[in-house]
Amino acid sequence: MQDVVAFLANVKPPITPALVIRRAAFAANLALMQGECAAKGVRLRAHGKMHKSSRIAAEQLARGAVGLCCQTVGEAEAYVAGGVPDVLVTAPVPPWGWPRLAALAAAARVGAVMDSAAQAQAASAAAVAAGVVLDAYVDVDPGMGRAGVAPAGAPALVQAIVALPGLRWAGIQAYCGHHQHMLPAERAAAHAAWTRRLRALLADLRSAGLAPGQVTGGGTGTAAMDLAAGVYTELQAGSYALMDVEYGDLGDLPFQPALFLAASVVSARHDSHVTCDAGHKALHPNGPPQRVVWPVGSQYRPAGDEHGAILPPNGAAEGDLVWLQPGHVDPTVALHDAYFVADEDGRLERWPIDARRTTT
Ligand code: PLP
Ligand code: MN
Repeated sequence: MQDVVAFLANVKPPITPALVIRRAAFAANLALMQGECAAKGVRLRAHGKMHKSSRIAAEQLARGAVGLCCQTVGEAEAYVAGGVPDVLVTAPVPPWGWPRLAALAAAARVGAVMDSAAQAQAASAAAVAAGVVLDAYVDVDPGMGRAGVAPAGAPALVQAIVALPGLRWAGIQAYCGHHQHMLPAERAAAHAAWTRRLRALLADLRSAGLAPGQVTGGGTGTAAMDLAAGVYTELQAGSYALMDVEYGDLGDLPFQPALFLAASVVSARHDSHVTCDAGHKALHPNGPPQRVVWPVGSQYRPAGDEHGAILPPNGAAEGDLVWLQPGHVDPTVALHDAYFVADEDGRLERWPIDARRTTT
């Protein structure tokens, strides 16, 4: 982190708390993931739930991503409005969402996952009413218990989708969220066991004449394993672009920390700590603790909605900037309006977080 500290010393965002992207690290992360996917002939459909920015999406598309993943209808709308030509909603769509996705499909290629015949019927009815076609993906549950059909239930749902108007069966999704943050050996074992089951499902689908166009899934933690196994045709990784403490601490991922939060020391009345202007509204507590990058050796504790403690002060004085790395990138990004993208010389560019509408 020595190099990071030297870099951050030159960066002065116009406001605090402020999310700052180190452009060089971000660009290296994008190039690395895109290059690894291209080397294996796998499509990258980067997950936009993480960065919520069509400006970042444009960088990913320019390097070869085929489109963006979204988790919500609102994200899909923001990305299409921001110029993304191909979006896939990777989480279950609530009933009110289908007409909105169908309306969106007049302007872009729009896909969505589904795990029940009722969802397929709702999607079909909305698509027919709007005169569009939606890409339909069968969501397969790899053992997370969140959404998705058990592998054995996938062929029947595929058949239901194929029979419906307004839907184009595009493939299956199988996202192993429960594997992403396992330590390397445990992750490799869980990944290998799941890969065997996924291969068996694909063999079943093929023998029923239902070979999927795409097998989409994967995340930052399993990306290298997914690419090595050669079963997924499309990767959905998101966090690799900016990274966070949770992913960095796994120790085996080749991506660099690219996102930092700047806060101002607003009170320094105590020997034990200084108080900064980043509290619950700037840093989401999910995940491991936020890491203090500067002052070196200090820790961060939330101290209210708008306040945080940096302890011990380790040289931070009133008016100074302190720098943190978010514990978990996604929910913290969703608290902010913009990124400040910093060149190595400290020059800044503001990129809006235009897809941040958090619920829809
Ligand atoms: N795909 C789906 C369906 C997800 O829910 C997520 C994240 O939760 C991802 C991909 C991307 O994961 P990551 O940010 O860990 O790369
Ligand atoms: Mn996450």
